[in-house]
Amino acid sequence: MLIVKKRDRLIQLLKKQKGGNTIGFVPTMGALHEGHASLVRHAAQNNTICICSIFVNPSQFNQKEDFEKYPITLESDIDIVQKNECDILFLPQTDEMYPNGWQHAEKPDLGRITTLWEGQFRPGHFDGVIQVVKLFLDIIQPNVLYLGQKDYQQCAVIQSMIRYYKLPVKIEIRNTLREENGLAMSSRNRRLTPDQRNNAAGIFKALQFINENFYKDKNSVLLQKATQILTNIPESRIEYIAIVDRIHLQALSDDEKNNAVVLVACWVGPVRLIDNLLLN
Ligand code: AMP
Repeated sequence: MLIVKKRDRLIQLLKKQKGGNTIGFVPTMGALHEGHASLVRHAAQNNTICICSIFVNPSQFNQKEDFEKYPITLESDIDIVQKNECDILFLPQTDEMYPNGWQHAEKPDLGRITTLWEGQFRPGHFDGVIQVVKLFLDIIQPNVLYLGQKDYQQCAVIQSMIRYYKLPVKIEIRNTLREENGLAMSSRNRRLTPDQRNNAAGIFKALQFINENFYKDKNSVLLQKATQILTNIPESRIEYIAIVDRIHLQALSDDEKNNAVVLVACWVGPVRLIDNLLLN
């Protein structure tokens, strides 16, 4: 596996590689877990070249503290991507990505999708995501971009950005990997105590409750009951739980049951967790 820190070097390398090869790209912020590993493995198995990036992108953090406390486990990360057959690990520093600073990003207007839910509770977050993913796509020009369903709205926003710029890249969205207790794997889980980690399984229980009863009750009733499950988690604070349509992420009315997904953001102790489940 090659570790590349400079964007020009990566561009040069990839120029030589083109011609019949396919490039699969997995962007990450590091502190890698099995969820990331599964994306890298899949990209490696389905492309000639698998590129993974590790970059904690400052422009997508709306809270300084979240950025400063973001876990960094570089040695173990290198080991994980290597073992999962990544060919190139792109590991840029901030000034390599943003030589002129990251404050002056072009902001495409993607409409409401960037201001709902995560966008409402993390103002500016998706501007940063769009900025960094666009940069990566321009540098790497992959054939396929691999993303996790765990960040459902992020997938929808990136999909919309790719359409906006008419970029020649396919998106493949992969399933969320979970701990045994159902908690979605996340780099931020490292900041939970063992008790908080156990209790946080209640988030998935709330989502499963909605799915299991989806056709039995009105959406508002399901949301009320799920809110109670979340409220019963010790040290929890709900930001939102919503049943929305899978494409535009608009809240569905009480009896709308087609193409639905439930989205949730809930704090457990010091950590903000997000999760989602397709409703069938
Ligand atoms: P992050 O490092 O958190 O920015 O995530 C990098 C990529 O891994 C994103 O596409 C995430 O959606 C994906 N990812 C994060 N957690 C999981 C998980 N538990 N299962 C599958 N993919 C995940």
